[in-house]
Amino acid sequence: MQDYTDVIVIGSGMGGLSAALGLAQAGQRVIVCERNSVAGGNCSAFRIGEYTFDLAVHQLAGIDEGGNCARLLEDYKIKSKLKFFKIDPFVTLILPDREIPLPGNYEELEQIMLDQSPDHKKDIQKVFKAMIAWRHDILITARIFQGKQAVEKSDYAKITLLKKLTYPFTGLFWLLNSRRTADNFFKMLTKNKNLTTLFLACWPYLGLPPDRISGLMLMSCMSGLYGEHTYYPQGNSQKVADVFVSAIEENQGKVLLKSGVREIIIKNNQAQGVVLENGQKIFAKIVISNADATQTFTKLINPTLAPKKYIKKLSELSPSVGPFKLFLGLDFDIAQNGLDKHEYFFYESLDFTKCFEKLKKGSISCLSAYSPSHLEPNFAPKGHSTLILTAFLPWKTERDWRTAKEQIANEMLSLVEQKVKNLSDHIVVKKIFTPQDLNNFSLSHQGAMYGWANTPGQSLIYRLKQETPIKNLYLSGHWTIPGTGVTTAMLSGWILSKSLEKKLKKRS
Ligand SMILES: Cc1cc2nc3c(=O)[nH]c(=O)nc-3n(C[C@H](O)[C@H](O)[C@H](O)COP(=O)(O)OP(=O)(O)OC[C@H]3O[C@@H](n4cnc5c(N)ncnc54)[C@H](O)[C@@H]3O)c2cc1C
Repeated sequence: MQDYTDVIVIGSGMGGLSAALGLAQAGQRVIVCERNSVAGGNCSAFRIGEYTFDLAVHQLAGIDEGGNCARLLEDYKIKSKLKFFKIDPFVTLILPDREIPLPGNYEELEQIMLDQSPDHKKDIQKVFKAMIAWRHDILITARIFQGKQAVEKSDYAKITLLKKLTYPFTGLFWLLNSRRTADNFFKMLTKNKNLTTLFLACWPYLGLPPDRISGLMLMSCMSGLYGEHTYYPQGNSQKVADVFVSAIEENQGKVLLKSGVREIIIKNNQAQGVVLENGQKIFAKIVISNADATQTFTKLINPTLAPKKYIKKLSELSPSVGPFKLFLGLDFDIAQNGLDKHEYFFYESLDFTKCFEKLKKGSISCLSAYSPSHLEPNFAPKGHSTLILTAFLPWKTERDWRTAKEQIANEMLSLVEQKVKNLSDHIVVKKIFTPQDLNNFSLSHQGAMYGWANTPGQSLIYRLKQETPIKNLYLSGHWTIPGTGVTTAMLSGWILSKSLEKKLKKRS
């Protein structure tokens, strides 16, 4: 095994694989070191008997023609290797008094919002206008900072000249409002509480309720979810990671599994390589850590080797919530028994702040339920199906989820049983997965599922940058700009690989 290469990537989550593929295609010799026996991090899958489950990821954004994920996959020349199922509606809300599907299409969504709030047409249009304006300003920003290739030509052409000319002013408007929470931001668009609640009901995709989450981060998520469709990868989420691994290998890169990194070698404030768990040393010009940022700076390097200011900043950042999941194999077809759509959000109450406060105490007040086996029937034996329930729980809760697992799992089942009677009688496989299990799997700090919590002070431009104060050491993935999600983690790696490609060319 060679002990010198150009680039080492620690971790094979989608942020790591994306950076690795970009640099391998740019002619760099790349080695990815992954501690697990499968690649993909959160984008991986596993089997229990005859049932297949995604560990975490179940919807991808930006796959529509011209979407940022589609463009990234095209840039890496792997788009044709992946096939997707379109998900529409992307989620159905199960509220105490009604069910509302949320489609990935502005026109249909507008009609649904009008049905719910017929007297607020103007406010509804204001919200859509703001989402479009925000999206256009993101495209203009991406084009300014990452060049023409970062934005689809036809998308850019849709932006009016007036919008382009007023960008400096609207840009300033967003900047001035970047510290607002979603609740606070929405007050500028509508005073109608019902409308605000419905528009912001997709907050679980980012892990914080509207009174705590960054308004602009949620707007980015909404403009993606409401304006484009989401997709499920055919096969399962692991397929996405596998396609990246094959492409890295086709470009002479290596992905080493069961190869955890225990130390990053730093000399004279420069990263020079890594030491694996088995003691093997690999030296490199560049080290990219896709492992969580806290682990990188407190365990993989001696924290005294990094500037105190940076370590202090890291210690002040708060991680997102963790997942409490129930993986279920069922002896009936759940699609024929109440849940025939891809994903549902069950809410005990429309007061999202209250729901979140209850979760913080360790009790279930809302959850996501999704069943991919209606898309992929081979995930379960004939006539059977799979169902995955996910709630979030912070690392520390009043009622400790470590000791109250079964009780919490039963609360989750009870919430879903309001729609699927006797669900519990049909369970043939049941696996509980806690934030501690995610921490054991990927070493994610406090079992965080989305990187840093998406508060106004930790989102978008306020998230960590890929560059670190240590020369030749970079970060890639959801702990860095642009933030949470698979597409976003891939973008983090793509942005990094493009900027490193330029730097490495200059050096040689
Ligand atoms: C339950 C759940 C559901 C989600 N659903 C969705 C969804 O449907 N759609 C979506 O877009 N996003 C979803 N997300 C969020 C999304 O999964 C993440 O934001 C994204 O996958 C993060 O990718 P990453 O590369 O930054 O990190 P990770 O996927 O966490 O990858 C980090 C990798 O580094 C490895 N590693 C860590 N330390 C070391 C070490 N010392 N040595 C070697 N390897 C190491 C880990 O094993 C892991 O493979 C979900 C997350 C969770 C937890």
